[in-house]
Amino acid sequence: SPLRKEESAAEEKGLGFKGHDMLAPFTAGWQSTDLHPLIIERSEGSYVYDSNGKKYLDALAGLWCTALGGNEPRLVAAATKQLNTLPFYHSFWNRTTKPSLDLAKELLETFTASKMAKAFFTNSGSEANDTQVKLVWYYNNALGRPDKKKFIARHNSYHGSTLIAASLSGLPALHQKFDLPAPFVLHTDCPHYWRHHLPGETEEEYSTRLANNLENLILKEGPETIAAFIAEPVMGAGGVIPPPATYFEKVQAVVKKYDILFIADEVICAFGRLGYMYGCDKYNIKPDLVSVAKALSSAYMPIGAVLVSPEVSDVIHSQSSKLGSFSHGFTYSGHPVACAVAIEALKIYKERNIVEQVRSIAPRFQDGVKAFSDSPIIGEIRGTGLIIGTEFADNKSPNDPFPAEWGVCAYFGAQCQKHGMLVRVAGDNTMMSPPFIMTPSEVEELISIYGKALKATE
Ligand code: PLP
Repeated sequence: SPLRKEESAAEEKGLGFKGHDMLAPFTAGWQSTDLHPLIIERSEGSYVYDSNGKKYLDALAGLWCTALGGNEPRLVAAATKQLNTLPFYHSFWNRTTKPSLDLAKELLETFTASKMAKAFFTNSGSEANDTQVKLVWYYNNALGRPDKKKFIARHNSYHGSTLIAASLSGLPALHQKFDLPAPFVLHTDCPHYWRHHLPGETEEEYSTRLANNLENLILKEGPETIAAFIAEPVMGAGGVIPPPATYFEKVQAVVKKYDILFIADEVICAFGRLGYMYGCDKYNIKPDLVSVAKALSSAYMPIGAVLVSPEVSDVIHSQSSKLGSFSHGFTYSGHPVACAVAIEALKIYKERNIVEQVRSIAPRFQDGVKAFSDSPIIGEIRGTGLIIGTEFADNKSPNDPFPAEWGVCAYFGAQCQKHGMLVRVAGDNTMMSPPFIMTPSEVEELISIYGKALKATE
């Protein structure tokens, strides 16, 4: 391939196979990125610029996260002010900082799908989901039911890449070679209607079948051993998979029946991406625990959080004299600079009515991209709000993936990049989740580049 030729040319010139010192996350060893990675140097609104000055529409908002785009001065000012006042103090042992206390209050107020009493801060979505597992285990130990420890997640889900979060995730690439998932994690069906429904089966019937499968798994394992069920309202990294009709209604009824906690992984969906403040609002999910990160600070600082219901937090508080303190946390839990930025981001979301902003551009974004559904190389285009995924398939059939070595999806992604737009490519799927601040003309640009890249790929 041209890539291999470039590689050997580089080696001959003595540049070395691994042109850089960084061990890059989620990057295959031989990929061209090792020779000349795309170096992003600056950002402005919905655009980023590489080290050669080339401009790209950032159709993935970084990694589904820069909700307010590339140069929001209020976030920079909030960080600068906090850095000048108190760059760091921790939140261990009854010491803390005002930004972390204020953010906890503000954040809890944004969540209205069910009652949340406490916020626990982390640095990332992965740490939030790891924290979920420890919270739930502590909770069940406190309740005197040490056997209720297993987690059920879904095939194709993504919950992060630390040991526990990668175990919860249902993507094979996160398990192979790492001896995962951990034995306490079970996986149930991915709610991918297009790919997995039976001939003639409606979305509602498909959801009933999946809820029955979940119930059967719980019964097989023993409900007294199952602690929690974790789900993204819309699956992101697994290929942008919104739930089929009545799915969450039915799944929630099952987990409730067996006293199993519901954890909503809102790391991608929270703060407006779906045209609702939370995915839970859109799908009427009433979780016991919630994970957030990414848009919490519009990604200007690393921060995540776990929201905890009063039922769970009351047990943890009332039992801590018996079990000892909740001995879990990170040096940077509630980092004051990250919290100050997140407080400002939440303020901006409120002042600018970000949910309405998303709703005002989402229909054209969805309709414009979905208008390409007739392409002979596209199986399905799925999405809602400001998140959309394209699944490529031969003969428009879920049973006919293109041979991996053809690299159809990767070619489409490369064509987008060539035409000045960055998207996410994974397997047969291409994904986009642009910043919430996109203008209507930027939405048109996105649709136009998508069309050009598709034409070149066909
Ligand atoms: N959960 C979901 C749904 C995600 O999409 C991600 C990251 O993309 C994570 C958790 C992990 O977050 P982080 O990369 O901040 O650890």
